[in-house]
Amino acid sequence: MYERAEHGISRAAIDDNALKVLYRLREAGYRACLVGGGVRDLLLGREPKDFDVATDATPEQVRGLFRNCRLIGRRFRLAHVLFGREMIEVATFRAPHDDEAEDEGQVALSEEGRILRDNRYGTIEQDAIRRDFSVNALYYDIEDFSVLDYTGGVEDLRAGVLRLIGDDVDTRLREDPVRMLRAVRFSAKLGLTIAPEVEAGIHDLASLMQTVAPARLFDEVIKLFHSGAAVTCLDELERFGLFEAMFPEAADCFADPDLGAERRQFLVESLLNTDKRINEGLGVNPAFLYAAVLWAPVQVVAAERIDDGEQEIPAWQQAMAEVLDRQVKTVSIPKRFSLIVREIWELQARLERHRGGRALRLLTHPRFRAGYDFLCLRARAGDADPELCRWWTEIQEQDEDGQKAMAGTQGKGPKGDGKSGAKGKSRRGGRRRRRGRKGGGGENTGSAANPDSGGGE
Ligand code: ATP
Ligand code: MG
Repeated sequence: MYERAEHGISRAAIDDNALKVLYRLREAGYRACLVGGGVRDLLLGREPKDFDVATDATPEQVRGLFRNCRLIGRRFRLAHVLFGREMIEVATFRAPHDDEAEDEGQVALSEEGRILRDNRYGTIEQDAIRRDFSVNALYYDIEDFSVLDYTGGVEDLRAGVLRLIGDDVDTRLREDPVRMLRAVRFSAKLGLTIAPEVEAGIHDLASLMQTVAPARLFDEVIKLFHSGAAVTCLDELERFGLFEAMFPEAADCFADPDLGAERRQFLVESLLNTDKRINEGLGVNPAFLYAAVLWAPVQVVAAERIDDGEQEIPAWQQAMAEVLDRQVKTVSIPKRFSLIVREIWELQARLERHRGGRALRLLTHPRFRAGYDFLCLRARAGDADPELCRWWTEIQEQDEDGQKAMAGTQGKGPKGDGKSGAKGKSRRGGRRRRRGRKGGGGENTGSAANPDSGGGE
């Protein structure tokens, strides 16, 4: 235990609504602590993303204390206390599994050892040891403002180490393979070193990612790539084989000895931009992210179909549909996002035809901005003509007459006839067209891309 004077957490740094929940629980005679990322980040001197509360009150008892409270989750039952748009998550202390609990149906494991249900309540010490990492198992006790540490988390935090709780790494990762993704995210975002035994465990068990519910992986992937440290996350996911386990087709494209590095570079450019936007507090759209991750496979499949004699437009349509269909079996992409993903892709060919009324109409397309950002990032990675990006940047800065002039007959775009469409030199990816695109638009000018680009909304 670290007393009030021994740690740097001040109540002023804690969210008012979280404090309200803590005090209300305590007044009702329950134990109430801040736990998880909130405590960890405060100890690191960072601003927490959210504040989670742990208590010995059951979810039903919590609901009895707050007007705006709903109970959620089956696998893991929780109370959400709502304050306008803000939400404080309140979890009841949980006990580890044993056969008795399993017999009573409070907990359940799958054949691979995955936790299917986890609703057996227990003491705070028990609650601590069933959390994932020691640095995530620290409690800030509202009773006396001390920090309670049952797992050596404070020391690990000071040493900058991310360590799974317990001796049996294998079991802990099998119980919930998502912990592997969490390890990557916390280490990348907080600059912690993953403990060697955890590294080894992840290398061995990365393929278990395929047993995780696709909807959950969608959320986790967003958390990884919207963490503000997306490029590091990508490197680490690849190093562990986790990227391949979740995005096999993209990983395959990046492994291509000829074109892999360039294709991957486009994703890196997108992620750099996402990081920049996140760190500047700008919005980011999950659809943009998935469009970027899956762009290489779509290019490859489309190019193969075209090489096989298919017409361009249907070839691209088919490629987009196929790649998305295959992907959602591992990492789901809700329709409301996959529709936007397709729109961003479809805009790429349309942005190459920049003449006449069509160009002007594109400027009012609801996804124009995202499509344009995507194009400019491709240009940065050598996957599209930087002149094209510049042209679209410029036309947005014109008044109506200037726009008409640019789109009109004398205001040609960079490539003259504007009909190159999906055939443009920048298009690439097909296995059978590996060489010979040095001439056109491959220059990485960097500064040509709009500084604000890359995030969608
Ligand atoms: P952040 O909110 O900054 O992403 P966090 O550590 O608070 O990080 P949450 O997902 O909010 O992460 O979870 C809150 C806490 O619940 C964690 O700190 C950890 O103690 C526990 N926890 C969350 N997910 C798991 C898991 N898969 N296995 C074990 N414990 C978990
Ligand atoms: Mg949290």
